[in-house]
This record gives sequence, structure tokens and C-alpha cells, in this order.
Amino acid sequence: MTTPVSPDSLPLLQQPLDRVLGPKTAKPFAPLGIVTVGDLLRHAPRRYMERGELQPLGDYPDGQDVSFLGRVDDVSLRRMQSKRGAILTATVTDGAVDMLLTFFGRGEGHLQGHLRKLRIGELGIFSGKVGHYRGKVQLTHPDYEMVDDPDELDSTIERRSKPIPMYPATSKLPTWKIATAVQTVLALLTPEDVPELLPATVRGPGGYLPAFEAIRALHVPESLDEAEWGRRTATFQEAFVLQALLVRRRRANLALRATPRPGRPDGLLAAFDSALPFALTRGQQAVGEELSHDLAGEVPMLRLLQGEVGSGKTVVALRAMLQVVDSGGQAALLAPTEVLAAQHHRSISRMLGDLALGGTLVAAAESTQVALLTASLPTTQRRLALAAAASGDAGIVIGTHALLSENVQFLDLGLVVVDEQHRFGVEQRDKLREQGTRVAHSLVMTATPIPRTIAMTVFGDLERSTLGEVPAGRAEVATFLIDWENEAWVERMWARCAEEVRGGGRVYVVCPRIDAHDDGTEDDGEPDEALLDAQGRPLTEKRPLSAVLDVVDQLRARPEFAATAEAPEIGIGMLHGRMSAEAKERVMTEFASGATPMIVATTVVEVGVDVPEATVMVILDADRFGVSQLHQLRGRIGRGERPGVCFAVSTHVGGEGPTAERLAAFAATRDGFRLAEHDLDLRREGDVLGAAQSGITSSLVSLRVLRDRDIIEQAHRDASALLEEDPDLEGMPGLRAELDRIETTRMGEFLERT
Ligand code: ADP
Ligand code: MG
Repeated sequence: MTTPVSPDSLPLLQQPLDRVLGPKTAKPFAPLGIVTVGDLLRHAPRRYMERGELQPLGDYPDGQDVSFLGRVDDVSLRRMQSKRGAILTATVTDGAVDMLLTFFGRGEGHLQGHLRKLRIGELGIFSGKVGHYRGKVQLTHPDYEMVDDPDELDSTIERRSKPIPMYPATSKLPTWKIATAVQTVLALLTPEDVPELLPATVRGPGGYLPAFEAIRALHVPESLDEAEWGRRTATFQEAFVLQALLVRRRRANLALRATPRPGRPDGLLAAFDSALPFALTRGQQAVGEELSHDLAGEVPMLRLLQGEVGSGKTVVALRAMLQVVDSGGQAALLAPTEVLAAQHHRSISRMLGDLALGGTLVAAAESTQVALLTASLPTTQRRLALAAAASGDAGIVIGTHALLSENVQFLDLGLVVVDEQHRFGVEQRDKLREQGTRVAHSLVMTATPIPRTIAMTVFGDLERSTLGEVPAGRAEVATFLIDWENEAWVERMWARCAEEVRGGGRVYVVCPRIDAHDDGTEDDGEPDEALLDAQGRPLTEKRPLSAVLDVVDQLRARPEFAATAEAPEIGIGMLHGRMSAEAKERVMTEFASGATPMIVATTVVEVGVDVPEATVMVILDADRFGVSQLHQLRGRIGRGERPGVCFAVSTHVGGEGPTAERLAAFAATRDGFRLAEHDLDLRREGDVLGAAQSGITSSLVSLRVLRDRDIIEQAHRDASALLEEDPDLEGMPGLRAELDRIETTRMGEFLERT
């Protein structure tokens, strides 16, 4: 519950935008996450345009950035034939040379704004990246500004003698509208409105501007040089605020108390260790000791365990859970999906054997119960699991988000393990920890290799452990890129799948979507780009994306998988998000047992699924997946002793451009950390981690800074030094208020979502 605050009493930067601009003008800003004055001022220009940049029209090489003055000669809007969506083209001329402008939209309605603005006969200043299409020079989605009245031309160009900020925009909110809104707000803004976030001692050495000057430099620079300093200051501020927040959280954690869980020499853990069928790797031992030490202490453990896919994190976590159970406490294990929770429940029960039969007659002397608690459980089972958690009979409770719901009570929760953290927000983590009077220890695990800069940013409040090696005897995995168009290779690939299954292996086939109506992506409100390929050309001539429901039928009809004289037919199952938890569970069990040795799936198999017999991973339309995702998928095979093979099938194989490069990088290495760095280089700003993954909301950070390791590290050092010297930030009231504001808004947003 938050007390309503009258907007008038809020500082200007926190005032809702609609109060300052009016509801109608403010409305289109909301989809960009811009709801307050501060949000608007944090929306930094993507680049600046200068008068000196205006060029004559001409045939420029592909990729060249151009800006020119031209007259609209012709405009047409039509629906695309072979694909949903509409296209608007305009010809702009300087009298001698023509340039084609092209805009794509999800429907004709999405392009009406351009249609209204691009009036035939009128002048405008256009700017964009040159491309060629059917022999014509074109700009796709150019930035432009129309000169409404020719008499205004001089003043428009005059205005351009200062750099013109070009903002990240949408079709409903073009850059000039953003610029106008920024001007309105800047007219109201005084230095007193802008709290200083960087101590002078930090600003000085870096040459960063005071906060107010930085805002003006960013939005209304006199020169490109000034704009650059505005940008650097804003970036550093962002990194600094975030690091200060994380350092402060970490310090706050040191002040909290947990119940020490030192374990016992003759308990479950000892019994488990002596029955373990393999030797722990050195990494598992070392991390195990770190965890054991943390758990024995009074300061709540707050640790991130990073480890390559297959490095054996589950055993490490289980051993920590057993130490807690041995100390009289309970442990909760949270998985991102029901499939994974069920798998953990199965494999942990199996690993524990007799030790997991607590409360039954055949139980070993030292034993406990392992309960599974997911949203889709039948009521009776759910009630039993809830009771076992509440009574303390279940030493280990495994579940999904359902565990976060309020009515799950633990008798004495000592440890929360979150598997595959990148799917959980920081807030969720906190929510579970805070049950009871003392906070629980917490361990967060991820197999997604996280580049250091992201780790520092997203997990900066956590201690970190890493499992470097995978257990010895792990098989090789070879990766092949297969060109969709090369039929012989595709045929050979399916034949290979059949051979693997006949030899006792299992095959995953992953598709980017479930059926033809599912476009494989969440609706992100950016329809335009989804219709373009990597070169900015429309996707009209592309083959449709592979879909689980179609591929299953196609494969079942193939002769390779049919019964032969010697062998029965190869069963092909499917797995996707629209199936019930029960059905998914059945499919995974049949896959693991070999009854259905092949499954066609969406990326539900991406994370953590562990079937040691799986030897082949076929990824259809591999270009639709990010590098880290591909790496995760490939991590599903080669987990046992049998060598694995991964086929990445795409139309982009061997070509040029970022997509082909991404696939080539993926095929070239199995080193997850190198791939993650590569991914970071390729992705767009702000796209590095979705807000849901990072647990850090967009209003806090654009993550631009993640590109620059030095900045993050410098900000971390500066923030640590500041909080060391001034733990309560007495000397930096502006920074303190900003950190408090972020903590409360994030908490608020989280509570609203649950
Ligand atoms: P991940 O780190 O990807 O979560 P898992 O914990 O699922 O990996 O472990 C992958 C497989 O390796 C499991 O089948 C597990 O039993 C096995 N495993 C774990 N540690 C070892 C080890 N030290 N030696 C051999 N096999 C191991
Ligand atoms: Mg795992």
C-alpha cells in the first residue's frame, strides 16, 4: 500500500508527464515506458543530425548515413501480398535525382501517420541509412522532418545549425514530437529540480558534468562535443546509481540475520555423500565448501552460482539443502517452469533414494520428504504438499512461482535455491527470503553464462561462485550448420536422427513456434522490424517459420522413422507451452524412458532439462534464436557418455551479415562465456536482458552501459568508496532520495504484478 501523494507536492522530475504536457500529448509516451518528467529526460537521443550533414541526393553505397533536403513527389500505401502487413513508399526528389523511402507496418492503419505527414509537393529533411532494392536507392524507415511552410525553410535549416537530437521513436511518436515535449519540460526545469547524483570527487576526475548541465547538453547541445559529454555523464550516472543501489543492498544484507545451519557430521548429507555414485568435481567440492561455510554463519547467504550447462549445479544445491535439513530447517527449490520443477523433483527423489522416504515405514533412519508444489497440481495433492511444507515434514519443497503465493507456509525455511535465475526478478527472490522472522539463506543458480559486466549489474548484490569444469567423461558435441535450401543435407540430417535413435539415442527437434498462427515472438509493439530481414529488406519471400504442429506431422510421415523389418516405428512426441503440465510431464517421461525417443518442441526444453541419453539437437530456423538460447539448447545433449551432434538449420547459413555471423560463432565454440560476450556485442542497447530477466525495470536503467566494462567497474569502485565513507549518504541527499525512490517503485511494481 502506498499513500497517495498529490502530484503537486512531488519534485518536478517525478511529476507525471500528463500533468505537464496534458493527457493527450503524454499518452503516446507510455508505451516507451515514459510516464514521468524524469523518464522523459532520461530518454536520450540516439544520435544527432547537423546542418553540415545535408548532402545532395545521389547514389550512395549501401549502409551510408545520409541527410538531405527533398520534395515529396509521390506517395503510395498498400497491403503486402504474401505476408500480413502494409508498406508505404514515397519518392523524394531534388528535381534531378530520386530517392525511395520505404516504411513497413503491421497494417495500413499503422502507416497513416506517415501518410498524413508526407504530403506531395512539400519539402522535408530526410535522414537514414542507404540501401538498395530492385535497383533503386532507398531509405528504410528514415527519420524526417517536414518543412511545413517553405518560408520556414531557412529557419528550419537555421535550427539545424545546432545539432538536432534524433530520439528513439515509434510510429505514433516521431522524434520531433519527443523533441518538442523535451523543450516544454526543459523550459520549466531549474538546477534546483535536478538532484546531483555524482559526488564532486567522482565527477571531477572523469570530467563529468553537473546533473543539470548534463541534461541540457544531452537534449539541447550547442555542439556535438557538448552532446557527447552529456551522453557520457548520463551513462556514468546510470551506472553509478545502479552500483550504489547494489552496494547498499549488499551492505544492508550484512545487517540482517539468518539462523546458522551448520549441519551435522552424521546426518543426511553424510549418508548422501557416501552413497553418491560419482566423485564430485574439484569445482563442486570448492563451491560446496563455500556454501557450507556461508550456511553455518549468521549473515544470510546471498550467492549466485554460475556454471556451464551440465556442470552439475543440482548436486551442489542438493548438498546445501541437505545441510540445512540436517540443521533442522527446510529448503525450497524454485524452478522457472513446471517441466523443470517436475524434473528436479524426480531426479532429486531418485538421487536421495531411501533418504527421501521420510515418514514411511521403509525410510532410512535419516530421511526427509521431498514435496512437489506447482500451480497445476490436483487439489488433494496440493493440499498434502502444503501440509508437508507447513508441518516441516517436507525438508525439501520443490516448485515454481506457486511457491511464492502467500498461502505457502514453511515451518522453518532456512534456504531458498532459485534455479536458472535469469527468469526470476530480484523482487521475487526477496519475497521468498523474507518469510519468517529471520531471513533465509539464498542461492541463485544460472547456466546462462553472464558476462562480467552484466553480472556486476544484475547480480551486483550477490556473492558469486563459478563451476568452471564439467564432470570428466562428458562427451563431445559437434555442431553443424545446415542450409535449408540444401536438400541433400537436410535429408542426411533426418537419416542421422533415425540412426541415433536406432542406436539408443534420443533426438530433440526445436521449432521457433507452435503453429502457423503463432508468430514466434511476443508482441513487443514494434511491428515494423519484425517484417524486415537483417538487411532491412521485407520478409515477404521467406519460407514460413517451422512450427511444432506441422513438423510433427511431417516427421511422422517420413520413411526413416517408420517401422522396418528389424525395428519398430520411432515414436515422435511433442512438447510446447500450450500443453497442460500433466501432458508435458508425460511426454518428458516417455522421452527419458525411450518410449518416445524423439520430440518436437518449442524452447520449453531450453533450460535445464536433463536426459543423459539425448544425443541429437536439431534446431529449425536457428536464426530465430539468440546465441545464448542456442547454447542452452545445445546444452541439452552430450550430457551422458555418448557424443552429441547439434544441427542448426537456417536460410542464413554461410551468408554475410549479423545473422550468419551469429550462427557461425555458435558453431565455432562451445565456450558459453565467449558466446555470451559475442551476444552482448551484437545485440541492441537495452535488449541485453529483458526487464523480466534482469529484475531491473526500464525506468531504472537502459543498460546502455553494459557495453562498457570500464565504466561499470569504475562506477562500482566509486560507489563502494562513497558508501564506505558515508553509509547513510548524509552528504548526498539527492542520491539517497533517488535510491529510495527506485527501491520503492520497484517493490510497488512487483506487488502490483502478483
Ligand atoms: P546443470 O549444472 O546444467 O544444472 P545438472 O546438475 O543437471 O547440470 O547435472 C548434469 C548431469 O551430470 C546430471 O545427470 C548429474 O547427475 C551429473 N553429474 C553431476 N555431477 C557429476 C559428477 N561430479 N560426475 C559425474 N556426473 C555428474
Ligand atoms: Mg540445472
